[in-house]
Amino acid sequence: MAANSETNEYDYDLFTIGAGSGGVRASRVSAAHGAKVAIAEEHRVGGTCVIRGCVPKKMLVYGAHFAEDLEDCQRFGWEIGERKFDWKTLRDNVLDDVTRIEGAYTDTLENHDVTIFKERAEITGPHEITLASGKTVTAKHILIATGAHPRMPECQGAEHAISSNEAFHLDELPKKIIIAGGGYIANEFAGIFNEFGCDVHIVNRGEVLLRQYDEAVRDRLLQISTMKGIKFRFNTTFEYIKPCDEGGYFVKLSDCDEEKADLVMFAVGRVPNTKGLGLENAGVELGEAGEIKVDRFSKTNVDHIYAVGDVTDRVQLTPVAIREGQAFADTVFGKGDPVAVDHSCIPSAVFSHPPIAAVGMTEGEAKNKLGSVKVYLSDFRPMKNVLAGRNERSLIKMICDGENGKIVGIHMIAPEAPEMMQAAAIAVKAGLTKADFDATVAIHPTMAEEIVLMR
Ligand code: NDP
Repeated sequence: MAANSETNEYDYDLFTIGAGSGGVRASRVSAAHGAKVAIAEEHRVGGTCVIRGCVPKKMLVYGAHFAEDLEDCQRFGWEIGERKFDWKTLRDNVLDDVTRIEGAYTDTLENHDVTIFKERAEITGPHEITLASGKTVTAKHILIATGAHPRMPECQGAEHAISSNEAFHLDELPKKIIIAGGGYIANEFAGIFNEFGCDVHIVNRGEVLLRQYDEAVRDRLLQISTMKGIKFRFNTTFEYIKPCDEGGYFVKLSDCDEEKADLVMFAVGRVPNTKGLGLENAGVELGEAGEIKVDRFSKTNVDHIYAVGDVTDRVQLTPVAIREGQAFADTVFGKGDPVAVDHSCIPSAVFSHPPIAAVGMTEGEAKNKLGSVKVYLSDFRPMKNVLAGRNERSLIKMICDGENGKIVGIHMIAPEAPEMMQAAAIAVKAGLTKADFDATVAIHPTMAEEIVLMR
């Protein structure tokens, strides 16, 4: 499947639409394999993760966590004067760093001689792309890596609500915020706003938060979040949002009287960006949610058109998009065998306060799939929380195949759970058993030692 860069039949060997995590990796590696590559981006190089997602969110999580550290430090002998938080300082520092990373991504592309078009691109023929400026180019291969955008539900006045995109640019913090949704973004931003002192209300259409995570871990997050002051309403929908003359909004939810809030944020999933790309001009097949259907090599039903990342709605996570981009480049332009991404056993984390991390099957899934399972549980109060007088317990849960002791899932809610999970996930992916963990000596005193001490 190697590129044929000697032929002048097309302007480029590869034209990528979308310079997010997947598109940038695919373009850079394809160019390194010798392909002549161009990429188009209508917003900013870096995409959701860098510009308005994982990266700035994690910085806000760090910023928010100081609220607890400043409280806890007194039990460790630190005396601090008046505490004051300035949102604009954090916001502007975060946005500056985002610009720095955007520059690094742009440099990477330019250093690999990838031509960047900072404008929207649309497919106008099987091998033809037309840019917003009117310029038309041709490419032997086309890669769609346009990501996804926040879903905004249809309720009266929905246009007054923000999504996570706008949360990074607020002029001021709301005194009261209502967040719709019970998934990643709702719980992460609820934690952030709550630590900054906002009155946070999560409103969820169902009765389950983070439904893909293990029940014990979800319940613990709900319990700790409630203890921290976040209010939850379940089985509730939005009827309307109306602007209020003195600022803020009147919000009517299905289960109560109209109430006032300074801000409403929707975090109810993300929709693949496939509209207006001209995919129909090339005959690319879409799924029911508008996602691009691809095979295990990220190829669409059209032989020379591929798609990676959130636009394919396989697993909406940055590292997955990056792997898909890398595999695409190696498959189409590399010298080796085609590479398919293994989408099994992907570890993930929710950067709530405290964070959740998981890999593999939940207890429920394992019981359904394997029948016989053995569950190990460690429910403990981390040493730091004990001395700080913080009544916040952590939970680590290991699910093993009852037949052979193979670990099929690990689930945690604990400070630094995502850091611990990255290492534990290697063992689960490698198919290690509980006996292998038992044979490993603990590092004491750590929270991670619980993983090898469960009985
Ligand atoms: P999630 O898929 O995590 O959660 C969506 C939530 O919204 C669920 O509670 C869902 O309820 C609810 N919902 C779905 N549709 C509607 C609707 N029409 N009306 C009301 N509620 C609805 O989505 P997020 O927006 O939080 O995040 C989007 C994606 O971004 C995630 O799936 C994840 O892949 C990625 N992401 C990853 C992060 C990380 O890795 N830490 C951080 C942030 C985002 P129900 O359960 O009933 O369907």
